[in-house]
Amino acid sequence: MSPVVVPIESALGPVARSAARQAGHITRPQSLSFEFGPPSTPESEENLWACIRKLEPLNPDFVSVTYGAGGSTRERTHRTVRRILEETTLKPAAHLTCVDAPRGEVDEVIRDYWDAGIRHLVALRGDPPGQLGGAYQPRADGYANATELTKAIGRIAPFEISVSLYPQKHPESPSIEHDIDVLKAKIDAGATRAITQFFFDIDAFLRFADQVRKAGVTIPILPGIMPVSNFKGLRKMAQPCGIPLPDWLTALFKGLDRDPGTRQLIASALAAEMCVRLTEEGFGDLHFYTLNRAAHAELVYAICRVLGSRGEAVK
Ligand SMILES: Cc1cc2nc3c(=O)[nH]c(=O)nc-3n(C[C@H](O)[C@H](O)[C@H](O)COP(=O)(O)OP(=O)(O)OC[C@H]3O[C@@H](n4cnc5c(N)ncnc54)[C@H](O)[C@@H]3O)c2cc1C
Repeated sequence: MSPVVVPIESALGPVARSAARQAGHITRPQSLSFEFGPPSTPESEENLWACIRKLEPLNPDFVSVTYGAGGSTRERTHRTVRRILEETTLKPAAHLTCVDAPRGEVDEVIRDYWDAGIRHLVALRGDPPGQLGGAYQPRADGYANATELTKAIGRIAPFEISVSLYPQKHPESPSIEHDIDVLKAKIDAGATRAITQFFFDIDAFLRFADQVRKAGVTIPILPGIMPVSNFKGLRKMAQPCGIPLPDWLTALFKGLDRDPGTRQLIASALAAEMCVRLTEEGFGDLHFYTLNRAAHAELVYAICRVLGSRGEAVK
């Protein structure tokens, strides 16, 4: 009997497969982006900057800075984005929400960003303060949603505009189809890139992405990747956002609440598998949620190396 010849790629796991592909110089279009939050204390500012400096050499397409509900971090987000622009080689994008703010105030923030040299905004409606996942009441004198905000941004200056997308449905939305219609409205309003909420069910994401493409959407869709270094914290974050956590994920981290070292090892293996699979499925533009945590930055750095990004390690 002649031996069965297994092609080398299929004999490897996803991480080694990714490396083998790079060694064979098979390149894929791929971009990276990292999301940070504005710091609230001198200590959290130090943490943030340690993360930024760790990830900067990976040369991401952009980094984004979140905006607190109801404009609560307006000054801090602005200061952080400006500092990134002035002190690093990175291209910062500022998140902007319209919840609980009059149109005039939002317009002023948009103009301030343009005047400061920021050219990319992530346009969001935002959640009502203190009510993540609760009922939303737009202000009569405000922009009602991200579609109206996207239009307003375009009227003020020619920003690049990214918007949100929910592979497992926004908690307030009646259906996936409604979410896709909302995305199309945001694209008609001027959005050129969609960044997704984080998820762990890749098959569900791929089915959703297929539905989005079949609906005629052609803009880049960036899967949002959340490294799982703290499972308890992840569960708290996922629940109000309506993001299901699969049983296998719960099982993976069971009993490890007091063992951050093992959690970190499992988290990096898991995220590497997810990212390689997504890249193989044609979603090679990856957006990482860092939560300003050193553990996330370390993990993201390692995964990006697996994916073929090579930067100088920052001490
Ligand atoms: C990548 C990403 C980044 C985020 N960053 C932040 C952040 O920095 N700060 C923050 O507070 N939150 C942030 N969020 C959370 C987000 O603000 C909430 O999920 C919020 O509940 C919805 O905001 P949105 O922009 O997705 O809403 P929208 O896209 O405006 O959709 C919300 C609802 O408005 C309605 N709607 C919108 N457009 C239309 C239309 N054209 N016609 C009819 N109905 C419409 C629909 O019912 C829709 O379900 C982020 C989410 C993601 C995925």
